[in-house]
This record gives sequence, C-alpha cells and structure tokens, in this order.
Amino acid sequence: MSLLKVTELGKSFGGVKAVDGISFDLAPGELLALIGPNGAGKSTTFNMVNGQLKADRGSILLDGEELVGRKPREIWRMGVGRTFQIAETFASLTVVENVQMALLSHDHKLFATWRRAADHKRDEALALLDQVGMKAQADRPCSVLAYGDVKRVELAIAMANSPKLLLMDEPTAGMAPKERNSLMALTKQLVIDRGMAVLFTEHSMDVVFAYADRMIVLARGRLIAQGKPLEIRDHPKVQEVYFGSGKTFEKIAEKAAAVNAAVAGEIA
Ligand code: ADP
Ligand code: MG
Repeated sequence: MSLLKVTELGKSFGGVKAVDGISFDLAPGELLALIGPNGAGKSTTFNMVNGQLKADRGSILLDGEELVGRKPREIWRMGVGRTFQIAETFASLTVVENVQMALLSHDHKLFATWRRAADHKRDEALALLDQVGMKAQADRPCSVLAYGDVKRVELAIAMANSPKLLLMDEPTAGMAPKERNSLMALTKQLVIDRGMAVLFTEHSMDVVFAYADRMIVLARGRLIAQGKPLEIRDHPKVQEVYFGSGKTFEKIAEKAAAVNAAVAGEIA
C-alpha cells in the first residue's frame, strides 16, 4: 500500500485555482520530486499535506488515515515531518540544544527552565547529529555555522519525530551546487536507512534528475506528467509547458547521470 495517497486535491484562492484536482501516490522509501514553474501550486500542495492549508476538495490519506481537516500539530504527530529554517531566536543555542528542543517537543515535555531541559535527550540528539554528520560541531552555536551545515542541523531537527514522510519545500534554495548535492545525498541516505519517504520541490534540475526516484510535474495547478526522471525528460508536454519550446532536458540529464553515478558509488 502506498504511504501517501492524494486524490483529486484542490484549493483556490479567490478566483485562482492554485491546485486543481491533483492525484498522486508516494511509497515508503521513495524520494518524489514535485516540480513546475513558479506559481504552479507546489507550496500550496505541501501546505495542504502538512495541514497549514485546508483543502477545498479531495483527500490526502496517510497510511489510510485522512489528513484533510486535521491540525498541523496532529499531522506532525502522525508522522509527517517538515524542514523549518532555524529561527533567529534559536540561533544562539548550540547545535545539540536545537535538536534537544525538537526531541522534547515531540515528547510533549515542557520544562520550567531550559537548564532542566538541557539535561534531557542529549544522547539522542547527538545520535541524530551523527547521522547528518554534525556531531563534531554539536556544541557550537548555530549562528556560527556555515550555511550548508545549518541545513544539516535543520534536517536533524526534522528527524526528531521520526517522520514516515518528510516534506522539503525548496530545501537547497540559496546553496552552492556542491552543498546542494551533499544535502540531497544525505537525504537519500536517510531515506535508505530509515525507509522514510520524501516529497520535495527543487529548482535545480541537476539535483532533481540525480536524486529523485520519481517526479510529478505541476503547471497552473494541474498535474501534467508523472514518472521516472527519464520518462519526464522525454515528455513533450513537460518540455513545452515547463521549459518553453526549443529547450530540452538533454544536457541536464547527461550531467545528472554523472552525478548520479558518483553518488551511487558514494552511498553503495
Ligand atoms: P509554487 O510553490 O509552485 O510557486 P504556490 O503554491 O505558492 O506555487 O502558488 C500557486 C498559486 O496560488 C499562485 O498563483 C499564487 O499566487 C497563489 N497563492 C498561493 N498562496 C496564496 C495565498 N495565500 N493567497 C492568495 N493566492 C495564493
Ligand atoms: Mg513554492
């Protein structure tokens, strides 16, 4: 059975059909890329899955349970995680403290003072940081980290509730190509290790072709294609709507194949 089953999902803002009746599935252990031009409805789709927006119509089943109508917190508890940017107020805390906070939040524990909270969950937090390659920097304040390292900590924070499904809306925005590849390789590793599913959006086609198991393509709120990266590459409707006539995926796909081979070697 699929982990996530989205059926005829729709949401309008005023007269704009931001998402117009889309259906797709996501299996455990699958990395699914949601692509499409700006305004295609990607973020709206994400926000319906995580409960921040209520769908006008359609259904979102997680392990057979309906998510539409539930609050974000409830959906999070059911196993849908998402990456957040570390808020400025938390940047002064250390790396490990940020992860501890996330773990405590999952356990519903509220502590009168941070000092008491700080004793808890340190080992568990360090284990998560180890998985994202940030254990050595555990006691540094987040504010002094390199951008790519902050993203790794954000990923560890998102892992704190052991999500079955992780949502990542433009996770590599603002990153250099090398950092992007490293973050996505890490994400892929987590998918493999934990059998977690990931739904992500991404502007860099290099990244999408290198890491996505499958892709779905939105244009003006409608799902115009879905399939494996190579099927999508050759899809005339995608080339036309998404890239405009004349441009093709050829070059990108070649480059991505090289990256893919390198990554496969790295994580095999
Ligand atoms: P994407 O993430 O693919 O760029 P969005 O889901 O953000 O696209 O937006 C899809 C469409 O819905 C756009 O036309 C956008 O202007 C509109 N939209 C998104 N959020 C809102 C909102 N809160 N209020 C009004 N219109 C919105
Ligand atoms: Mg968006």
